[in-house]
Amino acid sequence: MRHTGEVKRLVLLGPGHPHLLLLAHLARARPSGVEVVLVSQGPAQLYSGMLSGCLAGMYPPAALQVDLPALARAAGARLEQSGAQGLEASARRVRLGDGRVLDYDVASVDVGSAPAHDEVPGVHALAVPLKPLAGALTRLRRLSAGPLLVVGAGAAGVELALCLQARAQVPTALVERGPCALPEQSARAQRLAARVLARRGIAVHAGESVAALEPGEEGLQRARLGSGRTLPFATCVWATGPRPHPLLASCGAALDAQGYLAVHDTLESTSHPGLFAAGDCAGFVSGQHVPRAGVYAVREAPVLIHNVSARLTGTEVLRRYRAQSGYLALLNAGDGTALGAWRGWAAEGRVLLRLKDRIDRRFMARFPRRSSD
Ligand SMILES: Cc1cc2nc3c(=O)[nH]c(=O)nc-3n(C[C@H](O)[C@H](O)[C@H](O)COP(=O)(O)OP(=O)(O)OC[C@H]3O[C@@H](n4cnc5c(N)ncnc54)[C@H](O)[C@@H]3O)c2cc1C
Repeated sequence: MRHTGEVKRLVLLGPGHPHLLLLAHLARARPSGVEVVLVSQGPAQLYSGMLSGCLAGMYPPAALQVDLPALARAAGARLEQSGAQGLEASARRVRLGDGRVLDYDVASVDVGSAPAHDEVPGVHALAVPLKPLAGALTRLRRLSAGPLLVVGAGAAGVELALCLQARAQVPTALVERGPCALPEQSARAQRLAARVLARRGIAVHAGESVAALEPGEEGLQRARLGSGRTLPFATCVWATGPRPHPLLASCGAALDAQGYLAVHDTLESTSHPGLFAAGDCAGFVSGQHVPRAGVYAVREAPVLIHNVSARLTGTEVLRRYRAQSGYLALLNAGDGTALGAWRGWAAEGRVLLRLKDRIDRRFMARFPRRSSD
């Protein structure tokens, strides 16, 4: 980023993947003429790719925590840790959690998504939501003895069920609304997941949805399913996939049909030039298919870096992001192996876990890590 003349303010809402990479870029480029403010909800950003491995005992918590004060310092940015409470796109300002207001010239939103729970009774009180990840990590590291129930058998749910079961050795079950585990993967990946889960003794209740979580018997809770069956649990993890972050609904910028911030392929808001969104919170109006996965968020970063700079300087043409047509999904199985799925191919083994470990460590090596939990 090159800047001349007056100092402009760039506000980065949320320390998601693209913003971490933007800050790492700033640490190298150190542009002048721009004041950068990163708004986070605390001093660390947890990397989801290593969360299940940490819960399986493969990594200490510090290994997956980016040290935000150190990263901001290196990038010459100011860190505001009280979170963003509101975004007013038309007024170009952000309300911080501590009540202060920040005006901006250019802003980028990368606050991720919220867990979907469809207002199921009992979820708030009795389930562990995956977001924020820091809360999930704290609660799931101290798993109670007794049955574990994971609601949602997408990639995150299956990986967590395998990793938590490997560590805690408790009866484990998955509930999935779709017809099988990994409903969005290929038929071969679904068959592989079914085999691995069966071998590990993890029950899959497919074609079922949870109607309510409620107090049960003998000190346990229970999930009441749509079919009327009940499943007892000591711990319930709610992994039903993403929904729009609550910050978006009231921000005044255009949203897509699902409620995500509507962006062009340039990642810029369709209604408010100078406002960008990346990662899970962006909704592409061009119709290109961009799954809500870290792999895609990471690939958006170079386009975001270029286009934010272009808006700050007013001198360059915006670039377009083109999502890759597929990606290698790697799920840690918690037992020294991983499951891999790429288009119609699927396999399991130790080599795949080594590959996943290498990819994840390489990503984290780009940022300063917290030295303790
Ligand atoms: C258990 C699990 C495992 C996963 N594994 C993989 C994987 O292996 N590969 C893969 O591609 N994808 C994986 N995903 C999906 C992946 O985590 C998300 O798609 C990815 O994190 C999205 O990145 P992001 O940049 O949109 O936001 P996030 O990584 O979610 O980061 C957003 C940040 O913004 C912060 N924030 C939220 N609200 C505010 C606010 N009001 N003010 C300030 N900050 C705020 C959040 O605390 C968070 O730190 C996994 C998800 C889970 C839950």
